[in-house]
Amino acid sequence: MGENDFTVKIKTLTPLWTGGVEGRPDRLHDTGIIGSMRWWYEAIVRGLGGYACDPTSDKGCKLTGKEKSDKERKKNMCPVCYLFGCGGWKRRFRLYIEDAPTTALHFRTSINMNKNWINQVFDGENKNIKNLKVFHGEITFKFMLEKNDMDYIRSQLIMLFSFIAKYGGLGAKLQHGFGQIQILEPKSVNDDTLINKGLEELSNKIQADEFYKGEKVNTPYNLGNFVCLDYDLQQSSLTKFMQERAHIGNHSKLQEKGYLPCAFDLRYKGSGNFGMRNWLENTKKWKHREINMLMGVSEKKGEKLTAKDRAASRICFGMPYKLGIDNYRLRIFGFTPPDILKPNDLKTLCEEYMHYAFSTDHYNLVCATLGSDIIKGLGGAQ
Ligand SMILES: [Zn+2]
Repeated sequence: MGENDFTVKIKTLTPLWTGGVEGRPDRLHDTGIIGSMRWWYEAIVRGLGGYACDPTSDKGCKLTGKEKSDKERKKNMCPVCYLFGCGGWKRRFRLYIEDAPTTALHFRTSINMNKNWINQVFDGENKNIKNLKVFHGEITFKFMLEKNDMDYIRSQLIMLFSFIAKYGGLGAKLQHGFGQIQILEPKSVNDDTLINKGLEELSNKIQADEFYKGEKVNTPYNLGNFVCLDYDLQQSSLTKFMQERAHIGNHSKLQEKGYLPCAFDLRYKGSGNFGMRNWLENTKKWKHREINMLMGVSEKKGEKLTAKDRAASRICFGMPYKLGIDNYRLRIFGFTPPDILKPNDLKTLCEEYMHYAFSTDHYNLVCATLGSDIIKGLGGAQ
Protein backbone atom coordinates (compact mmCIF):
# COMPACT_ATOMS: atom_id res chain seq x y z
CA MET A 1 0.00 0.00 0.00
CA GLY A 2 1.44 3.36 -1.01
CA GLU A 3 0.71 6.69 0.57
CA ASN A 4 -1.76 7.54 -2.17
CA ASP A 5 -3.94 4.50 -1.74
CA PHE A 6 -5.75 2.72 1.05
CA THR A 7 -8.28 -0.06 1.38
CA VAL A 8 -11.44 -0.42 3.38
CA LYS A 9 -12.65 -3.94 3.97
CA ILE A 10 -16.24 -4.38 5.02
CA LYS A 11 -18.58 -7.16 5.97
CA THR A 12 -22.20 -6.67 4.96
CA LEU A 13 -24.63 -7.26 7.81
CA THR A 14 -27.54 -6.95 5.38
CA PRO A 15 -27.05 -7.29 1.60
CA LEU A 16 -25.94 -4.38 -0.56
CA TRP A 17 -28.01 -3.02 -3.43
CA THR A 18 -26.28 -0.86 -5.99
CA GLY A 19 -28.50 -1.18 -9.04
CA GLY A 20 -26.98 -1.96 -12.38
CA VAL A 21 -28.34 -2.87 -15.79
CA GLU A 22 -32.11 -2.45 -15.56
CA GLY A 23 -31.72 -2.40 -11.80
CA ARG A 24 -30.27 -5.88 -11.72
CA PRO A 25 -27.11 -6.05 -9.67
CA ASP A 26 -24.90 -7.80 -12.24
CA ARG A 27 -21.78 -6.57 -10.59
CA LEU A 28 -21.03 -4.27 -7.71
CA HIS A 29 -21.06 -0.91 -9.46
CA ASP A 30 -18.57 1.59 -8.19
CA THR A 31 -20.92 4.32 -9.42
CA GLY A 32 -23.65 3.07 -7.08
CA ILE A 33 -21.26 3.09 -4.14
CA ILE A 34 -19.83 6.49 -5.02
CA GLY A 35 -23.36 7.90 -5.52
CA SER A 36 -24.35 6.72 -2.09
CA MET A 37 -21.19 8.15 -0.50
CA ARG A 38 -21.81 11.46 -2.22
CA TRP A 39 -25.42 11.55 -0.97
CA TRP A 40 -24.33 11.09 2.66
CA TYR A 41 -21.52 13.61 2.26
CA GLU A 42 -23.97 16.21 0.92
CA ALA A 43 -26.13 15.80 4.04
CA ILE A 44 -23.07 16.10 6.29
CA VAL A 45 -21.82 19.23 4.50
CA ARG A 46 -25.23 20.91 4.79
CA GLY A 47 -25.41 20.02 8.47
CA LEU A 48 -22.07 21.74 9.06
CA GLY A 49 -23.39 24.91 7.49
CA GLY A 50 -21.79 24.35 4.09
CA TYR A 51 -23.29 24.47 0.63
CA ALA A 52 -23.82 21.25 -1.33
CA CYS A 53 -24.88 21.85 -4.93
CA ASP A 54 -27.39 19.70 -6.77
CA PRO A 55 -25.13 18.18 -9.43
CA THR A 56 -28.12 17.11 -11.53
CA SER A 57 -29.43 20.68 -11.91
CA ASP A 58 -27.98 23.58 -13.90
CA LYS A 59 -26.83 24.97 -10.56
CA GLY A 60 -24.22 22.23 -10.19
CA CYS A 61 -20.69 23.56 -9.63
CA LYS A 62 -18.51 24.13 -12.68
CA LEU A 63 -15.02 25.55 -12.93
CA THR A 64 -14.41 28.39 -15.39
CA GLY A 65 -10.96 27.15 -16.37
CA LYS A 66 -9.53 30.58 -15.55
CA GLU A 67 -8.69 29.75 -11.95
CA LYS A 68 -4.95 30.03 -11.34
CA SER A 69 -4.50 27.82 -8.29
CA ASP A 70 -6.22 25.00 -6.41
CA LYS A 71 -7.17 27.60 -3.81
CA GLU A 72 -9.06 29.57 -6.47
CA ARG A 73 -10.56 26.38 -7.89
CA LYS A 74 -11.80 25.38 -4.45
CA LYS A 75 -13.45 28.76 -4.05
CA ASN A 76 -15.50 27.96 -7.16
CA MET A 77 -16.92 24.63 -6.00
CA CYS A 78 -18.77 23.24 -3.02
CA PRO A 79 -17.02 20.91 -0.52
CA VAL A 80 -18.85 17.94 -2.07
CA CYS A 81 -17.63 18.64 -5.61
CA TYR A 82 -14.13 19.21 -4.24
CA LEU A 83 -14.12 15.54 -3.18
CA PHE A 84 -16.41 13.98 -5.80
CA GLY A 85 -15.63 16.13 -8.82
CA CYS A 86 -17.63 18.41 -11.12
CA GLY A 87 -17.26 20.07 -14.50
CA GLY A 88 -13.55 20.88 -14.87
CA TRP A 89 -12.50 19.07 -11.69
CA LYS A 90 -11.64 15.38 -11.37
CA ARG A 91 -12.95 13.28 -8.51
CA ARG A 92 -10.16 13.16 -5.91
CA PHE A 93 -10.12 9.39 -5.79
CA ARG A 94 -10.70 6.32 -7.89
CA LEU A 95 -12.48 3.36 -6.38
CA TYR A 96 -11.77 -0.27 -7.22
CA ILE A 97 -13.96 -3.04 -5.89
CA GLU A 98 -12.65 -6.56 -5.85
CA ASP A 99 -14.96 -9.41 -6.82
CA ALA A 100 -17.81 -9.14 -4.39
CA PRO A 101 -19.69 -12.24 -3.22
CA THR A 102 -23.39 -12.44 -4.04
CA THR A 103 -26.40 -14.23 -2.66
CA ALA A 104 -29.96 -14.75 -3.90
CA LEU A 105 -32.46 -11.98 -3.25
CA HIS A 106 -35.28 -12.77 -0.88
CA PHE A 107 -37.72 -11.02 1.41
CA ARG A 108 -39.95 -11.86 4.32
CA THR A 109 -43.41 -10.49 4.97
CA SER A 110 -46.25 -11.36 7.32
CA ILE A 111 -48.95 -10.27 4.83
CA ASN A 112 -49.60 -12.02 1.53
CA MET A 113 -50.65 -8.77 -0.16
CA ASN A 114 -47.17 -7.36 0.42
CA LYS A 115 -45.71 -10.12 -1.74
CA ASN A 116 -47.14 -8.56 -4.90
CA TRP A 117 -45.84 -5.19 -3.89
CA ILE A 118 -42.36 -6.41 -3.21
CA ASN A 119 -42.29 -8.36 -6.45
CA GLN A 120 -43.34 -5.24 -8.35
CA VAL A 121 -40.86 -2.99 -6.64
CA PHE A 122 -37.97 -5.35 -7.31
CA ASP A 123 -38.74 -6.90 -10.64
CA GLY A 124 -41.30 -4.69 -12.33
CA GLU A 125 -43.30 -6.51 -14.97
CA ASN A 126 -41.51 -9.82 -14.71
CA LYS A 127 -42.66 -10.32 -11.12
CA ASN A 128 -40.02 -12.90 -10.54
CA ILE A 129 -37.33 -11.97 -8.11
CA LYS A 130 -36.10 -15.52 -7.70
CA ASN A 131 -33.26 -15.00 -10.16
CA LEU A 132 -31.99 -11.72 -8.77
CA LYS A 133 -28.84 -11.47 -6.73
CA VAL A 134 -27.56 -9.04 -4.15
CA PHE A 135 -24.10 -8.53 -2.72
CA HIS A 136 -23.42 -10.09 0.61
CA GLY A 137 -20.25 -11.02 2.43
CA GLU A 138 -16.79 -9.48 2.76
CA ILE A 139 -15.99 -6.77 0.22
CA THR A 140 -12.78 -4.82 -0.27
CA PHE A 141 -12.82 -1.25 -1.55
CA LYS A 142 -9.54 0.15 -2.79
CA PHE A 143 -9.19 3.92 -2.99
CA MET A 144 -6.51 5.54 -5.15
CA LEU A 145 -6.05 9.20 -4.34
CA GLU A 146 -5.02 12.11 -6.56
CA LYS A 147 -1.65 13.40 -5.41
CA ASN A 148 -2.81 16.75 -4.00
CA ASP A 149 -4.21 17.32 -0.52
CA MET A 150 -4.12 13.58 0.20
CA ASP A 151 -4.30 13.77 4.00
CA TYR A 152 -7.52 15.75 3.88
CA ILE A 153 -9.10 13.56 1.19
CA ARG A 154 -8.18 10.40 3.08
CA SER A 155 -9.55 11.74 6.37
CA GLN A 156 -12.81 12.73 4.64
CA LEU A 157 -13.28 9.33 3.01
CA ILE A 158 -12.52 7.47 6.22
CA MET A 159 -14.87 9.73 8.16
CA LEU A 160 -17.57 9.12 5.58
CA PHE A 161 -17.22 5.32 5.60
CA SER A 162 -17.18 5.27 9.41
CA PHE A 163 -20.24 7.47 9.54
CA ILE A 164 -22.13 5.25 7.09
CA ALA A 165 -21.24 2.10 9.05
CA LYS A 166 -22.04 3.63 12.40
CA TYR A 167 -25.21 5.56 11.65
CA GLY A 168 -26.55 4.83 8.17
CA GLY A 169 -26.24 2.42 5.28
CA LEU A 170 -24.30 1.98 2.03
CA GLY A 171 -25.69 1.71 -1.50
CA ALA A 172 -29.27 2.09 -2.69
CA LYS A 173 -32.72 1.06 -1.45
CA LEU A 174 -31.77 1.74 2.15
CA GLN A 175 -35.47 2.06 3.04
CA HIS A 176 -35.81 -1.64 2.23
CA GLY A 177 -33.12 -2.46 4.75
CA PHE A 178 -30.16 -3.00 2.43
CA GLY A 179 -26.67 -1.71 3.10
CA GLN A 180 -26.00 -2.20 6.80
CA ILE A 181 -22.26 -2.73 7.01
CA GLN A 182 -19.48 -3.35 9.48
CA ILE A 183 -15.94 -2.18 8.78
CA LEU A 184 -13.31 -4.90 9.28
CA GLU A 185 -10.22 -2.96 8.16
CA PRO A 186 -8.70 -0.59 8.99
CA LYS A 187 -9.74 -1.34 12.56
CA SER A 188 -9.15 2.26 13.58
CA VAL A 189 -12.09 3.28 11.38
CA ASN A 190 -14.50 2.18 14.07
CA ASP A 191 -13.03 4.71 16.43
CA ASP A 192 -15.36 7.68 17.01
CA THR A 193 -12.48 10.13 17.18
CA LEU A 194 -11.87 9.56 13.45
CA ILE A 195 -15.42 10.58 12.63
CA ASN A 196 -15.03 13.69 14.75
CA LYS A 197 -11.61 14.50 13.31
CA GLY A 198 -12.90 14.33 9.73
CA LEU A 199 -16.00 16.35 10.59
CA GLU A 200 -13.95 18.98 12.39
CA GLU A 201 -11.56 19.39 9.48
CA LEU A 202 -14.48 19.78 7.10
CA SER A 203 -16.29 22.16 9.43
CA ASN A 204 -13.18 24.34 9.85
CA LYS A 205 -12.79 24.69 6.08
CA ILE A 206 -16.46 25.56 5.69
CA GLN A 207 -16.23 28.19 8.44
CA ALA A 208 -13.09 29.61 6.84
CA ASP A 209 -15.04 30.06 3.58
CA GLU A 210 -12.64 27.96 1.54
CA PHE A 211 -15.42 26.69 -0.75
CA TYR A 212 -18.11 28.13 -2.96
CA LYS A 213 -21.30 29.06 -1.17
CA GLY A 214 -24.45 29.05 -3.29
CA GLU A 215 -28.11 29.53 -2.56
CA LYS A 216 -29.35 27.18 0.15
CA VAL A 217 -30.95 24.04 -1.25
CA ASN A 218 -34.29 23.24 0.38
CA THR A 219 -34.01 19.61 1.45
CA PRO A 220 -34.47 17.63 4.66
CA TYR A 221 -31.26 15.72 3.89
CA ASN A 222 -29.17 17.64 6.37
CA LEU A 223 -27.19 16.19 9.29
CA GLY A 224 -29.04 18.61 11.55
CA ASN A 225 -32.28 16.72 10.78
CA PHE A 226 -30.76 13.27 11.20
CA VAL A 227 -31.79 10.62 13.72
CA CYS A 228 -30.38 7.12 14.23
CA LEU A 229 -31.73 4.52 16.65
CA ASP A 230 -30.23 1.08 17.22
CA TYR A 231 -32.37 -1.58 18.87
CA ASP A 232 -31.74 -5.08 20.10
CA LEU A 233 -34.73 -7.34 19.44
CA GLN A 234 -35.41 -10.73 20.92
CA GLN A 235 -35.59 -13.45 18.32
CA SER A 236 -38.99 -14.52 19.67
CA SER A 237 -40.48 -11.19 18.57
CA LEU A 238 -39.52 -11.93 14.96
CA THR A 239 -40.74 -15.52 14.58
CA LYS A 240 -43.54 -14.39 12.25
CA PHE A 241 -40.91 -13.54 9.67
CA MET A 242 -39.05 -16.80 10.05
CA GLN A 243 -41.94 -18.99 8.99
CA GLU A 244 -41.80 -20.59 5.57
CA ARG A 245 -44.93 -18.84 4.39
CA ALA A 246 -43.38 -15.43 5.06
CA HIS A 247 -40.63 -16.11 2.53
CA ILE A 248 -40.55 -14.58 -0.97
CA GLY A 249 -37.83 -15.19 -3.53
CA ASN A 250 -35.19 -17.82 -4.00
CA HIS A 251 -35.78 -21.01 -1.98
CA SER A 252 -32.09 -21.34 -1.25
CA LYS A 253 -32.66 -18.56 1.29
CA LEU A 254 -35.48 -20.25 3.20
CA GLN A 255 -33.16 -21.08 6.08
CA GLU A 256 -31.36 -17.73 6.11
CA LYS A 257 -31.51 -16.48 9.71
CA GLY A 258 -28.45 -14.19 9.61
CA TYR A 259 -30.66 -11.33 8.50
CA LEU A 260 -34.42 -11.01 8.11
CA PRO A 261 -35.44 -8.91 5.07
CA CYS A 262 -38.71 -7.72 6.62
CA ALA A 263 -38.11 -3.96 6.51
CA PHE A 264 -41.22 -3.48 4.35
CA ASP A 265 -43.46 -4.84 7.13
CA LEU A 266 -41.70 -2.84 9.84
CA ARG A 267 -41.78 0.45 7.95
CA TYR A 268 -44.98 0.15 5.95
CA LYS A 269 -47.51 -2.43 7.01
CA GLY A 270 -47.35 -5.91 8.48
CA SER A 271 -49.66 -8.20 10.43
CA GLY A 272 -50.48 -7.40 14.04
CA ASN A 273 -48.96 -4.12 15.16
CA PHE A 274 -46.19 -4.07 12.57
CA GLY A 275 -45.99 -1.17 10.13
CA MET A 276 -45.04 2.40 11.03
CA ARG A 277 -46.94 3.94 8.13
CA ASN A 278 -50.06 2.02 9.03
CA TRP A 279 -49.67 3.05 12.68
CA LEU A 280 -49.32 6.74 11.77
CA GLU A 281 -52.45 6.54 9.65
CA ASN A 282 -54.75 4.42 11.80
CA THR A 283 -53.58 4.88 15.36
CA LYS A 284 -51.94 8.31 15.36
CA LYS A 285 -54.47 9.68 12.82
CA TRP A 286 -51.85 11.63 10.93
CA LYS A 287 -52.89 13.42 7.74
CA HIS A 288 -51.87 11.82 4.45
CA ARG A 289 -49.81 14.79 3.42
CA GLU A 290 -47.68 14.55 6.55
CA ILE A 291 -47.36 10.80 6.33
CA ASN A 292 -46.19 11.15 2.75
CA MET A 293 -43.67 13.80 3.75
CA LEU A 294 -42.17 11.51 6.34
CA MET A 295 -42.63 8.06 4.84
CA GLY A 296 -42.60 8.84 1.10
CA VAL A 297 -45.34 8.21 -1.43
CA SER A 298 -45.98 4.70 -2.53
CA GLU A 299 -46.15 4.40 -6.26
CA LYS A 300 -49.12 2.46 -7.53
CA LYS A 301 -49.11 0.85 -10.91
CA GLY A 302 -50.22 3.20 -13.68
CA GLU A 303 -50.29 6.19 -11.35
CA LYS A 304 -48.38 9.27 -12.47
CA LEU A 305 -46.47 10.89 -9.67
CA THR A 306 -44.41 14.03 -9.91
CA ALA A 307 -40.73 13.82 -9.08
CA LYS A 308 -41.45 15.62 -5.82
CA ASP A 309 -44.17 13.11 -4.87
CA ARG A 310 -41.93 10.23 -5.64
CA ALA A 311 -39.51 11.29 -2.90
CA ALA A 312 -38.23 8.20 -1.14
CA SER A 313 -39.05 7.59 2.46
CA ARG A 314 -37.10 9.79 4.83
CA ILE A 315 -37.21 6.98 7.33
CA CYS A 316 -35.29 3.77 6.76
CA PHE A 317 -35.65 0.52 8.66
CA GLY A 318 -32.73 -1.83 8.31
CA MET A 319 -33.25 -5.57 8.06
CA PRO A 320 -32.84 -7.02 11.55
CA TYR A 321 -29.57 -8.97 11.59
CA LYS A 322 -28.47 -11.63 14.03
CA LEU A 323 -26.16 -10.48 16.80
CA GLY A 324 -26.19 -13.22 19.42
CA ILE A 325 -27.83 -16.57 20.03
CA ASP A 326 -31.29 -15.14 20.31
CA ASN A 327 -31.14 -11.49 19.54
CA TYR A 328 -31.18 -9.28 16.47
CA ARG A 329 -30.06 -5.71 15.83
CA LEU A 330 -32.38 -3.28 14.09
CA ARG A 331 -31.41 0.19 12.92
CA ILE A 332 -33.94 2.94 12.25
CA PHE A 333 -32.49 6.07 10.71
CA GLY A 334 -33.56 9.00 8.64
CA PHE A 335 -33.98 12.72 8.12
CA THR A 336 -36.98 14.53 9.45
CA PRO A 337 -38.66 17.16 7.27
CA PRO A 338 -38.25 20.06 9.74
CA ASP A 339 -41.64 21.62 8.86
CA ILE A 340 -43.49 18.71 10.40
CA LEU A 341 -41.20 17.29 13.08
CA LYS A 342 -38.13 18.30 15.05
CA PRO A 343 -35.43 15.60 15.14
CA ASN A 344 -36.02 14.93 18.82
CA ASP A 345 -39.74 14.48 18.13
CA LEU A 346 -38.94 12.00 15.37
CA LYS A 347 -36.84 10.08 17.87
CA THR A 348 -39.76 10.06 20.32
CA LEU A 349 -42.16 9.02 17.56
CA CYS A 350 -39.96 6.07 16.55
CA GLU A 351 -39.68 4.99 20.17
CA GLU A 352 -43.43 5.16 20.55
CA TYR A 353 -43.89 3.06 17.43
CA MET A 354 -41.36 0.47 18.58
CA HIS A 355 -43.22 0.22 21.86
CA TYR A 356 -46.44 -0.38 19.94
CA ALA A 357 -44.96 -2.87 17.46
CA PHE A 358 -42.88 -4.91 19.94
CA SER A 359 -43.92 -5.32 23.51
CA THR A 360 -41.49 -3.70 25.96
CA ASP A 361 -39.77 -6.84 27.17
CA HIS A 362 -38.88 -7.85 23.60
CA TYR A 363 -36.70 -4.94 22.64
CA ASN A 364 -34.07 -2.69 24.01
CA LEU A 365 -32.88 0.69 22.72
CA VAL A 366 -29.09 0.37 22.56
CA CYS A 367 -28.12 3.69 21.10
CA ALA A 368 -29.87 6.87 19.96
CA THR A 369 -28.05 9.58 18.08
CA LEU A 370 -29.20 12.97 16.85
CA GLY A 371 -27.24 14.59 14.04
CA SER A 372 -27.58 17.92 15.85
CA ASP A 373 -25.72 16.46 18.84
CA ILE A 374 -22.89 15.26 16.59
CA ILE A 375 -22.64 18.80 15.20
CA LYS A 376 -22.72 20.38 18.68
CA GLY A 377 -19.97 18.02 19.82
CA LEU A 378 -17.51 19.43 17.27
CA GLY A 379 -15.48 21.76 19.43
CA GLY A 380 -17.91 24.64 19.18
CA ALA A 381 -17.48 24.97 15.43
CA GLN A 382 -21.13 25.90 15.04
ZN1 LIG B 1 -20.87 21.34 -6.05
